[in-house]
Amino acid sequence: MEKQFPSRLRFNLGFLLEASLGTSRTIELAYPTIQVATDLTLAPLTGAFVVTRTGEGIYVSGLLKSQLDITCVRCLENGQIEALLQIDELFYYPPTTAPKGEFIVGEDGFIDLAPLVRELALLEIPIQPICKPDCLGLCVECGQNLNEGPCDCQRERIDPRLAALRELLDE
Ligand SMILES: [Zn+2]
Ligand SMILES: [Zn+2]
Repeated sequence: MEKQFPSRLRFNLGFLLEASLGTSRTIELAYPTIQVATDLTLAPLTGAFVVTRTGEGIYVSGLLKSQLDITCVRCLENGQIEALLQIDELFYYPPTTAPKGEFIVGEDGFIDLAPLVRELALLEIPIQPICKPDCLGLCVECGQNLNEGPCDCQRERIDPRLAALRELLDE
């Protein structure tokens, strides 16, 4: 089995477990870059979330922001898109009360946001990313990036009926 990646998104919320129900605290993040999992590094990861003590554990809610690298499917240029990660999740405590597959607060009072952030970030990666809504893509004939201007084949392109006529004249 693969060695577990040490999470850099673990937060000690032990103090909150001792607090009365409804107690909350805001936690701000400002990572220029952070490796969330073996297959995911986010640069940056910023934003804030609120942790609230509830009867079932700790409720985590907030909005994180990042930038994801993409390759435009039309023009093949590399670019970035903004990703918004909306967090609304209950972390169960004690961990034994958690339904299968739900997030938990560890016995040590820590929560690990890495699996959740990874899941949300992967959902944000579009299947068919484009650099901008009006990307013109590449010319199918010469491969020029049409966002940089029209290519010669476009200027020369003529009506197919006229092309047939020209062939007749050429013969
Ligand atoms: Zn593009
Ligand atoms: Zn062309």
